[in-house]
Amino acid sequence: MIRTRFAPSPNGSLHLGHALSAITAHDLARAGGGEFLLRIEDIDGTRSRPELVEEALQDLVWLGLTWDGPVVFQSQRLASYGAAAERLKAMGLLYPCQCTRAQIAAAATLQGPDGLVYPGTCRGQDVPPDGAAWRLDMQAAVALAGPLVWEDALAGPQTANPAPFGDVVLLRKEAPASYHLAATLDDAADGITLVTRGADLFHASHVHRLLQALLGLPVPRWHHHALLVEPDGRKLAKRRGSPSLADRRRAGEDGRALAAALRDRRLPAGLCLSMGVG
Ligand code: GLU
Repeated sequence: MIRTRFAPSPNGSLHLGHALSAITAHDLARAGGGEFLLRIEDIDGTRSRPELVEEALQDLVWLGLTWDGPVVFQSQRLASYGAAAERLKAMGLLYPCQCTRAQIAAAATLQGPDGLVYPGTCRGQDVPPDGAAWRLDMQAAVALAGPLVWEDALAGPQTANPAPFGDVVLLRKEAPASYHLAATLDDAADGITLVTRGADLFHASHVHRLLQALLGLPVPRWHHHALLVEPDGRKLAKRRGSPSLADRRRAGEDGRALAAALRDRRLPAGLCLSMGVG
């Protein structure tokens, strides 16, 4: 049975891009007689805003979407993230890192899919673990996992290539787990069979596939859909005048009509779809 999910982070209001993502995941599940789950990725303590959760649920109802089962909150799953990290530590694959952003920016020389690649300063060093971030020793992890493949419903078969990310953070200094670790564990815990999300997260799936192999998790398929972007290719942003779904809802717009338009690719003026990752 197909099971998809929509997994917003309540760091800001949902916008049209989120609507497209939620509709895509919802419709793929419904078309296959499957289930659509809603997961709130609320573990970024510095940016997560509880009042935005209720707003997001109302937005989805307004779009005419229904989800199955209870809403899942990552903040209630911290123990599972910690346990997985302990397993990776016991395998010798994580190391503590006390570097600041400024130190990394000063020492990094490579750009990866997610920004600057960590230069490995703390790898193999005797770094105090208190208050540290924990990074994956990418080279060791890739060597242990061996060759891996994964499949995107649109882009086809992929050979996993997580190395360009470098030593990604799995436990963050200011948050209990990184996106990569939490999302991978949750998709497995929730039995997600088709991980549906925007093309901006396509490359992250290379890292997620590696984590699945290291942790013995089931391997889903992925569906990375085109992103709704501004004509210059940039993602929608409220500060550039793109109204949130809540703004539209409160202004009396018909959410189901908006959902129908997005399904038919009748896009609001000035917006286009892009598989680019900008
Ligand atoms: N929480 C992520 C976001 O809002 C999405 C994660 C995912 O779909 O894997 O961008």
